[in-house]
Amino acid sequence: MLDANIKKQLEQYLQLMENEVLLKVSVGDDKVSKDMLELVEELANMSPKIKYEKTTLERTPSFSVNRPGEDTGIVFAGLPLGHEFTSLVLALLQVSGRPPKVDEDVVEQIKSIEGEYHFETYVSLTCNNCPDVVQALNIMSLLNPGITHTMIEGKAYKEEVERKNIMAVPTVYLNGEFFESGRMTIQDILAKMGSTQDASVFNEKEPFDVLVIGGGPAGASAAIYAARKGIRTGLVAERFGGQIMDTAGIENFISVKHTEGPQLAARMEEHVREYNIDVMTSQRAKRLEKKDLIEVELENGGILRAKTVIIATGASWRKIGVPGEEEFRRKGVTNCPHCDGPLFEGKDVAVIGGGNSGIEAAIDLAGIAKHVTVLEFLPELKADSVLQDRLKSLPNVTVITNAATKEITGDDKVNGLTYVDRATNEEHHIPLDGVFVQIGLVPNTAWLEGTLEMERGGIVVDERGATNIPGVFAAGDCTNSPYKQIIISMGSGATAALGAFDYLIRN
Ligand SMILES: Cc1cc2nc3c(=O)[nH]c(=O)nc-3n(C[C@H](O)[C@H](O)[C@H](O)COP(=O)(O)OP(=O)(O)OC[C@H]3O[C@@H](n4cnc5c(N)ncnc54)[C@H](O)[C@@H]3O)c2cc1C
Repeated sequence: MLDANIKKQLEQYLQLMENEVLLKVSVGDDKVSKDMLELVEELANMSPKIKYEKTTLERTPSFSVNRPGEDTGIVFAGLPLGHEFTSLVLALLQVSGRPPKVDEDVVEQIKSIEGEYHFETYVSLTCNNCPDVVQALNIMSLLNPGITHTMIEGKAYKEEVERKNIMAVPTVYLNGEFFESGRMTIQDILAKMGSTQDASVFNEKEPFDVLVIGGGPAGASAAIYAARKGIRTGLVAERFGGQIMDTAGIENFISVKHTEGPQLAARMEEHVREYNIDVMTSQRAKRLEKKDLIEVELENGGILRAKTVIIATGASWRKIGVPGEEEFRRKGVTNCPHCDGPLFEGKDVAVIGGGNSGIEAAIDLAGIAKHVTVLEFLPELKADSVLQDRLKSLPNVTVITNAATKEITGDDKVNGLTYVDRATNEEHHIPLDGVFVQIGLVPNTAWLEGTLEMERGGIVVDERGATNIPGVFAAGDCTNSPYKQIIISMGSGATAALGAFDYLIRN
């Protein structure tokens, strides 16, 4: 079940187990059950601290991860391989007694939740965002006996996924009702459950010398450069990692031939946490105002103060802005081929956008879906020729150029798309099961409109990363920089931090 390389790495992790863990396995005669039993037996053979027994759980095949004599409520239904393998390893370690990496106040927040909460998370094994949610809910399940969590692998439970009309992952149900879909941190889940962190925690913080807003490549680099100057540095971000959390392979991060986005994000976070940086995640900034100090108001009402601020809020997927796009979001409309692609196996899908990301998505999807239609607004595709050549070699792809998408149609989920042929003005309708929107990104700067000088949504910066407000700097994809890449964002984060340090010593 596990290859030699994975086994070698796993053996090292399993040595970190503190106490015994009991896996309760519910299996039948099907192929996934056989694979699951093989996996559990392999794990038990690799560590004397892992025991297993057969039982009957709500779903078969599935297994729960428990302390002997005490069920934790953590269940894996289907095989937790692919991106979920880390969730399994962490569950084993944490159930064995290794403390999860969660702030003490969050641990207390989880423990204080009263009531019965049964979470179920539908995932695909190629989804980068799913493990965050699975691991967060597993930790909550471990810390609070009123909370249970089952990860459900979509392919193994195809009938259930189709019955519930799940067309995006991760999709979370709570006590049998839809709870939320998409990436979430523990704090997001807690907030949605009505348990919020007290805003006074932020108001009481001493002013920062440098406050970085954003935890992507630009923000991480800015925070490290600032902290290395020995000044009081804070980093506030909605989610650590930024866009790279949605990126599969990265091959142009110089000196690293190949890495995966979440892997690079984990390294970035580890590097940031090496320094004395106050990292505040799951917090969105909503207002910035220069007074004596610069004030940054958060969506939870808290206010952070700083002598200098570096804005590194990056960019998000651009929307097409047609009827049906929002109505059918997560019901067939999505931006993430890696996450949601497997849910469209054998189905008809469209990719809107003929640039590099659109064509990469179409190539990926052609291996899963029955048919892929690419719609490009311009008369020709804009992707690199190497990608276009690969696309042309695929038998189940149709490219339509000069196509202006007019509407995404559906009832309770997507059933097609209407577009206008810009050359003839004729309207056409294509029956579809899914639509992947890949038409580029827009800077996350709407919250700063009227506050800072902008150019087509990007914050205008000078060669030191300074904006038009003294003491306010910006870096990365949220600026007017013409090129948006990881290495460029990191470079501009460093520039902005050095610019801020210069500003501090001169003022
Ligand atoms: C699918 C895809 C593939 C890519 N592939 C590559 C590649 O192979 N190589 C490459 O070099 N580049 C690639 N890129 C581009 C690269 O990921 C970006 O250029 C880079 O991530 C930008 O970094 P950033 O820090 O400026 O912004 P982001 O990565 O967007 O990070 C923004 C940060 O700000 C936070 N944030 C946003 N708004 C707020 C708010 N109001 N308050 C608090 N926090 C906020 C976010 O949570 C996040 O932490 C890819 C991008 C995508 C989408």
